[in-house]
Amino acid sequence: MPFSKLGLCHPIVSAIESLGYTTPTPIQLQAIPVILAGKDLIATAQTGTGKTAAFVLPILEAFNQERTLRGKRIRALILTPTRELAIQVADDVANYSKHQSLSSMAVYGGVDTEPQKQRLIEGIDILVATPGRLLDLAHQRALYFDELEVLVLDEADRMVDMGFYGDINKIIDRLPASRQNLLFSATMSDEVIDLVDGFAEDFTQGSKAHAAVEITISPQSTSAPNIDQWLITVDKDTKSALLSHLINTQKWDQALIFIEKKHAAAKLVAQLEKRGIQANAIHGDKSQAMREKILADFKTGKLKYLVATGVAARGLDIGDLSRVVNYDLPFKPEDYIHRIGRTGRAGASGEAISFVALGDFKNLCAIESRLNHVIERKDIAEFPVRKVVPVSILNHVRTSKPPQSKSAPRSKAAFNANDKATKKPPSNTPEKGPETRKNKHIWG
Ligand code: AMP
Repeated sequence: MPFSKLGLCHPIVSAIESLGYTTPTPIQLQAIPVILAGKDLIATAQTGTGKTAAFVLPILEAFNQERTLRGKRIRALILTPTRELAIQVADDVANYSKHQSLSSMAVYGGVDTEPQKQRLIEGIDILVATPGRLLDLAHQRALYFDELEVLVLDEADRMVDMGFYGDINKIIDRLPASRQNLLFSATMSDEVIDLVDGFAEDFTQGSKAHAAVEITISPQSTSAPNIDQWLITVDKDTKSALLSHLINTQKWDQALIFIEKKHAAAKLVAQLEKRGIQANAIHGDKSQAMREKILADFKTGKLKYLVATGVAARGLDIGDLSRVVNYDLPFKPEDYIHRIGRTGRAGASGEAISFVALGDFKNLCAIESRLNHVIERKDIAEFPVRKVVPVSILNHVRTSKPPQSKSAPRSKAAFNANDKATKKPPSNTPEKGPETRKNKHIWG
């Protein structure tokens, strides 16, 4: 189905066609009509599914009728966990609305508030914000919410993980009760459900009585089929030499390399450079301007190897990324899924490689149980491992499956087999269609 059939006006369709989008993704197909109908939405969808356009496009459609805003007022508020994601979403809004006369901007911490306050004076149709800076600006009376029509919580699980639960509730308290609420989250953790239910409590006194629509896009059916996942068991002290070896021998064109600690990120960049591999790092100690410059270089291909801490890399959209490396295995399965979702987007193929040391065994079991399959292992002859990582356990039952050999099918096949075994729908098929949350009145 083309975008025009979804009820979007010509300026929007023309903008997205000029970006090369020909058909809506499953989340867009399901969410756009619901949002256009003015309903509240709770969507489980991760980065890489096209979720941003799924909420931005119908907002642009709803705002197509021009309206004069009073000063310091906003019509839509999109809350994101990180400044990088805020910038990314604001860029998407600007791209999708380029043929409309709507104003948009991002506000986030780590930079001077004054220019942000100046731009807010005239009022802004669509504001993308991180929670802390938004509250700060509201306290300074740089903006008011009385004309707000739509609230979007993007990557709600990340916001909760990053400790924004309290801030989000403070923001909600300031918003008009009569508004549309859209929540997007890669996972529906207990905390996210608490957040949604908390809103419901706030609004049971309000006039809204309609239930939110729920949509779930299966992470496995959206990203995994295009991603070759494999792991190398390693000894901790050989990781940087192994990485350099892989970059050189496998002639990697590009890699986003995840690492846990910021000082380790800087050290790894130095180690790679010693071996003649030019790399750079983004982490919390780098200034915002510096992070943006490094990311821009990586996006254009000027920088081929980017080392990023998990926190700094959250929510980054790096277009057609061919490879991610878990130099350190993440602690949470959700983070693993989120990280590998940076590659293999929108039908392109990608590769996700994890370095797994003996100390990571527990995390590996948790990740593989969540994926419901054993990730293919590869041996690199030049790097024999001294501390062997045991065969993984799936769902607490020791599997008899041996580590796969180099000729064994990759985990892409494992996913397909898994799809069959669990009667999952085929790739790119939503796991379930829209449904109304019946047990509770969410949001209102
Ligand atoms: P998101 O899930 O919003 O992070 O989007 C992931 C990527 O998919 C972004 O790079 C978008 O530009 C791209 N994208 C979004 N919608 C479509 C579409 N309908 N067709 C092709 N690419 C898309």
